[in-house]
Amino acid sequence: ILQNHVRQQSHDLTQSFLDDSIQTEMPLDEVVFALSNGHIELHYQPQICLSNNKVTGVEVLCRLLDGDRKPVYPNGFIDVIEANGLNELLLDCVITQLINDIHTHFNTADPFLYWSINVSALDLDNLDLPDTLANRFQQADISPDNIVIEITESSAIKHLHTGLDILARLRLKQFKLSIDDFGTGTAVLENIKRMPFTELKIDKTFIEKITSDKRSASLTADTIHMAQHLNMKVVAEGIEDAKTAKKLIEMGCDIAQGYYFAKPMPATKLIEYLDNNQELINKRIEECH
Ligand code: C2E
Ligand code: MG
Ligand code: MG
Ligand code: MG
Repeated sequence: ILQNHVRQQSHDLTQSFLDDSIQTEMPLDEVVFALSNGHIELHYQPQICLSNNKVTGVEVLCRLLDGDRKPVYPNGFIDVIEANGLNELLLDCVITQLINDIHTHFNTADPFLYWSINVSALDLDNLDLPDTLANRFQQADISPDNIVIEITESSAIKHLHTGLDILARLRLKQFKLSIDDFGTGTAVLENIKRMPFTELKIDKTFIEKITSDKRSASLTADTIHMAQHLNMKVVAEGIEDAKTAKKLIEMGCDIAQGYYFAKPMPATKLIEYLDNNQELINKRIEECH
């Protein structure tokens, strides 16, 4: 009975964690096949500046297509990627597809739109990363100034030595740097201070509790102030309702990302969103006041 209970509980946990994504793990050969054939789809989630209500950036989130061309979400393949050292191949595919999407759908010259890409912990062990990224974007005529590299707090700490070097070189190449999932790792403030991050993203496990739990609320408020003192922009991820957005506005958070404003969407939908949704964003933010 106990075993069943445990199994049921971990099943429930997985369910809520996986949200609306596809839940089976992709077999290694399918991952390799998808990556080798460019069977990848990028979804873009808008990030809204809370001081002027404008979309200031988008996070690039990748999905691999399985044998039936159905999208598989990262929690169905990231472990396979990491366990088999496929991180470079994944990053290469993401950048190729991103450049493709930008050239096909967007004005590459838009200096006001930032594209945030996620890199794996293993990429922080690759000293060629800054040059590789700089070359890819330069050849595509996209300024690194418009690219944000998101690194999770735990990977930044795991590869502290090479990591610091790589981060410094990425900054020299003018990339922006974001510390992702902040609050879930074990970063020591001293280390954060030494790393040249331009942005900090507070993890959604804190954001989702700020209206119900005083401790999450005060940790979030303190994190916002700490980051701003260190000259970082603060992004809150996983905002799902007006109450949470209101609280973050009161706390002086810079940028908002979450289903309340927009879910991740394909490039064609993102263009429509950027063209037509300013009214909706204004309304969403008004509803907070
Ligand atoms: P992340 O970088 O922290 O990305 C945010 C995740 O939260 C995304 O899940 C996004 O869809 C989801 N999200 C955004 N707003 C909300 C909300 O309001 N509520 C809820 N419940 N969820 C929200 P996704 O797309 O499944 O990605 C999961 C993780 O996979 C990412 O977490 C990132 O760590 C990793 N990932 C995604 N794309 C890539 C990639 O191209 N390369 C690498 N290395 N990792 C990636
Ligand atoms: Mg991210
Ligand atoms: Mg995150
Ligand atoms: Mg995350």
